[in-house]
Amino acid sequence: MKLFPHKYLVFDFDATIDSLIIDWSKEREELLEIGINVTGDKNMKIDDVHVFQIDLVKKYGDEVAQLFIDWSRKFEKENYSAHQPNMKLVNFIKNNQTQYKFFLWTGNHIETITPVLSELNLDEVFEKIISRDSVKLLKPDPEGFFQIFIPETEKSDYLMIGDSNSDRFAAKGSGIEFIHVDDFENKIS
Ligand SMILES: [Mg+2]
Repeated sequence: MKLFPHKYLVFDFDATIDSLIIDWSKEREELLEIGINVTGDKNMKIDDVHVFQIDLVKKYGDEVAQLFIDWSRKFEKENYSAHQPNMKLVNFIKNNQTQYKFFLWTGNHIETITPVLSELNLDEVFEKIISRDSVKLLKPDPEGFFQIFIPETEKSDYLMIGDSNSDRFAAKGSGIEFIHVDDFENKIS
């Protein structure tokens, strides 16, 4: 039986399908350094790390987008130590291949998630993977969804599953329904 009426399930990755153990303690400091180099403004502050990058990319364009993508690859590589899968979701995805089409929409770099997906045998299950390096603008910007959306389908056929407000607002901005991973987990249990 199909638990959700939707045809297309769009998953966040970190803290949704799998929790990456990455030491983020230097993230703000390093992003701020990039921001100051780009703008020359030493008084810059970071409120939200995603919105900080989105605003700078919107203002300064492709070159800055690439700076952040390169930074993310390096940062995640250097600060990753382990990961912990959410087996309920992993198994749901594996066992429901005929019921839905699955997409991944993550802010993590493809080089961070590829080995994890391989280890979990999830490398063939997604129609499309949108990762940090696929987009200029991170969630909550809906740019990633433009790459997921299949022409002539209904937005009401898409459901986004994630853990954060970035996911929630990304879904809202994309015009699709959102369910928190905890509620999703309860439904599939
Ligand atoms: Mg997440």
